[in-house]
Amino acid sequence: MYYLQSRWKQNGSTLIYYGMRKKPYLLQNQSKLTKRQTELISQLPLEADNPALVHLQTLIKQGIIVEEKDLRSFPSSIDEAIFCKKCAANDFMIPGIEFDENGLCPMCASSKRTEHLKSVLPLVEDIPVNLKGRFDVAVFYTGGKDSTFLLYYLAKVKNLRVLALT
Ligand SMILES: [Zn+2]
Repeated sequence: MYYLQSRWKQNGSTLIYYGMRKKPYLLQNQSKLTKRQTELISQLPLEADNPALVHLQTLIKQGIIVEEKDLRSFPSSIDEAIFCKKCAANDFMIPGIEFDENGLCPMCASSKRTEHLKSVLPLVEDIPVNLKGRFDVAVFYTGGKDSTFLLYYLAKVKNLRVLALT
């Protein structure tokens, strides 16, 4: 049987990948589908001997449509997670993350290529006090060192009222 790989979602006649893909498809996170491909993907999973699979060959070659044995599994705990060989990215915290043949996550594998990219998100140096609400700022608190330090910094150093989201 052939399935749509995890992190891919069908949106009409487009397949969308949520996240960065591994090389050589790094920033190619959308795939436009033909009418026939759109129909077939709506019918997944398909039997391996289905002659219509010929229309999905380009997607099979890219690992977007895969056999059941190649579907990415989701570890049930951090102890079962596969970690990037260079950073803390893992498939428990980022389900379905792709690692390359060297065990690197897409960010580490593409660090040379992406070092000149600039963030499109606005950066704020000072967060103003919110006069109308109970909180000044919210933090996505994972319990890791980064978000724990951020929580401490915003609450104790900046004296902001922090809503910790867990
Ligand atoms: Zn990494």
